[in-house]
Amino acid sequence: MMISILLDYLNELYPNAICELKYNKDYELLLAIVMSAQTTDKRVNEVNSILFTRYDSLEKLANAEIKDIEDIIKPIGTYKKKSIFIKEICQRLVNDKIVKLPNNREYLESLPGVGRKTANVFLSVIYNEPAIAVDTHVARVSKRLLLASDDDSPLIIEHKLMKRIPKASWSMVHHQLVFFGRYKCKSIKPDCYNCLLKDYCNYYKKRR
Ligand code: SF4
Repeated sequence: MMISILLDYLNELYPNAICELKYNKDYELLLAIVMSAQTTDKRVNEVNSILFTRYDSLEKLANAEIKDIEDIIKPIGTYKKKSIFIKEICQRLVNDKIVKLPNNREYLESLPGVGRKTANVFLSVIYNEPAIAVDTHVARVSKRLLLASDDDSPLIIEHKLMKRIPKASWSMVHHQLVFFGRYKCKSIKPDCYNCLLKDYCNYYKKRR
């Protein structure tokens, strides 16, 4: 498939795709991205409206009881592990005297629970850095459209996409692919009937 076909279609469907996680402070976004693994942004926003109101500073979250964090974020799943990450990240930021999270991938990825995908989303949203974060939606869509192979790792998919998509569009395409995967090319029952990419889609061809 010509990459321009995909990009044009995404622009038509989602001209204003943005990060749907809600946050007021930069560290709140970082924590929200960590929390968003294996759940929906909507659920993360719901628990965070409680968490970030009760603990409205980095210091307060760093000193919060793990049990209380767990009770608040329970609805998002894998909450025990995520609660530990939340507390440990805040403790590191307080200990390192971080007032504003830096535009520094190495530092971000040194924080507990923060991997390349989380750093990519954070850097792209907060610092407008060109990046393609490969989450479950981006990976699924890329494989279905044969932009990546079934056994490609997220890092390989990221490199394949970066090779084909102009750098200036990386961040926007990331958000658009997330929207496309979340609302149209869903894991179960994708809306193939109304999708203009049918002719290029391996999943659709196989299903027929
Ligand atoms: S045809 Fe279906 S599976 Fe293929 S990209 Fe479109 S929505 Fe996704």
